[in-house]
Amino acid sequence: MKQIDMNSPEFQAELEKTWQFVEKVDKQFGFVQNPDQEINEGVAMGLARNKLIYGKRYCPCFMVIGETPEERKKADNRICPCKPALEKEIPEDGVCHCGIFCTPEYAEKKKLEETAEEAAHQHSRGLTQEEAELLVDKEQLDGDELESLMEARELGMVTFTLVDVREPMEYQMGHIKGTDELWPTSQFYEWFEKIQGRKEERFILYCHTGSRSYQVQHVMKAQGFAHVGNLSYGIVSYPGEIVRGD
Ligand code: SF4
Repeated sequence: MKQIDMNSPEFQAELEKTWQFVEKVDKQFGFVQNPDQEINEGVAMGLARNKLIYGKRYCPCFMVIGETPEERKKADNRICPCKPALEKEIPEDGVCHCGIFCTPEYAEKKKLEETAEEAAHQHSRGLTQEEAELLVDKEQLDGDELESLMEARELGMVTFTLVDVREPMEYQMGHIKGTDELWPTSQFYEWFEKIQGRKEERFILYCHTGSRSYQVQHVMKAQGFAHVGNLSYGIVSYPGEIVRGD
């Protein structure tokens, strides 16, 4: 296979053409680039590389199958902008598999999510209403994000039920201030029966390190619970207040 030197004038010229191609596709279909420029750069470089090796802009996120041009034509290789992205991925998810082509709505939402995460991590300011609403819908939260959400909940910006899925003894030894309910994993079948009427409520679960709560999240989602978040690394990653006792 042809070796590509990324610093060669040949590659740089092809990369330049690839960016022009990306702009043309954006214009033709009304797409925008991903707000994460690293994603765009990685994909553009992959497309340029494939163009130099295979003569076509095959998708860099999939293996190019076939040794000869005839074999490659027969195989279901993705040539950019590929059919699955245009017909399914972008209309349904707002973004193509590789991430470079997005709908303006997807890009806007992603930008806001990134700002919300930054605000939660820097503790520089509280969340705005919009940021709080985006963050509360994340499936995997880190400690800083949950702490910001607890603050936002106190201010009446969002509602959710914070649930500890550890055992009563662990809860007594220390739990997140503001925990609303205790659902010990060992008594799963008992409490799971009782919460069947609460499928539209929003829950955030936590345990010690995030693995028990992740499993519970998984089961709840499979059973039709609409909004279940998880504190990814558990109470040990939570920087906010921990209280002892009942
Ligand atoms: S997924 Fe399709 S549209 Fe997106 S970069 Fe790959 S080939 Fe292009």
